Amino acid sequence: MLIDTHAHLNFKAFSNNLEDVYKRCEEVKMSVINVGAQYDTSKRAVEITKYKNFYASLGLHPIHVFDEDFILEDYKKLFTDKVLAIGETGLDYFHSSKSEENKEPITKNVIDKQVEVFEQHIKLAKELDLPLILHGRNSNDDFRLQTVYFDLCKVLDNHNYYNGVFHCFTGSQMEAKTIIDNGMYIGFTGIITYPNAENLRDIVKYIPLDRMLIETDSPYLAPQKYRGQSNEPVYVIEVAKQIAEIKNLNLEDVIEITWNNAKKLFKI
Ligand SMILES: [Zn+2]
Repeated sequence: MLIDTHAHLNFKAFSNNLEDVYKRCEEVKMSVINVGAQYDTSKRAVEITKYKNFYASLGLHPIHVFDEDFILEDYKKLFTDKVLAIGETGLDYFHSSKSEENKEPITKNVIDKQVEVFEQHIKLAKELDLPLILHGRNSNDDFRLQTVYFDLCKVLDNHNYYNGVFHCFTGSQMEAKTIIDNGMYIGFTGIITYPNAENLRDIVKYIPLDRMLIETDSPYLAPQKYRGQSNEPVYVIEVAKQIAEIKNLNLEDVIEITWNNAKKLFKI
C-alpha cells in the first residue's frame, strides 16, 4: 500500500478541499499520516482520522515554541489508537518563528528553548510508546549553525530514545549514516525530484531501502512535476518513482518496502 508518512491535511490550506483530497487518496487506496505542528493542528489531525486510512501525529514544531507553550498533559489527552507518532518536533536553525513579532535570531537561548520542548516530546513519546517524527533544519548563512542532525542525535542519545524518522531529510551522507546506524528511519520528500538535488539523490542511492520512508509534507514541497502547486498525498508516487529510478528497482517494490517500513515503525 502507498503511504504518505508526513502530510498536513490538518492545516488551513486544506479547509476548503479536504473532501476532494481525501477522495483522491481513496481512489488509489493510500494511507496518510497527518502531522501536528501546534496544539490546534494536532487536534485537527486527530479529528480527520475519521477518514479511512488517515492517521495522526501530535506535536509542537520547533518554529512554534515561541508562539505557544507545549503542555504535555493537553497533548496526552488527544491520544487515540489512530495517533501513531509524536511530532513534528526537533530543532530549527533557520528561523525561530514564522510570525514576525515572535521571530528571534538563533541564539543559545533560542536553541535551549527548542531543546527543552523537544525533550518534552521525547518524554511523551516514551510514555505512550510511540516513535518520533523529527524536524531538523540548518541555517542558510551561518556556518556555526550547520550541525542540526548531530545535535538532534545528541539529544536522542541523552535520553536513550532512538525511535522515529528524520522527516524531509536534506543532510549529508555522514549524517544519514549516523541516523541509520542508530536504527532510525529517513524520510524523503519531493525535494529529491528537483533538478538541483543531485547530492540528495546520491544519498538515496547510498541508503538501504529498508530504512526509508516516503512523504509529501503537503501542502509544501510539491514534486517537480507539480512544482508551484499545492502538494497533496497522491503526489507521493513521484517520490517513490524517483527512488525506483535511482536505485534501479520496480516502482511496486519501492511502494511495498516503504509501506512495510512504515508498518514496522508506526505499528500500523
Ligand atoms: Zn511538516
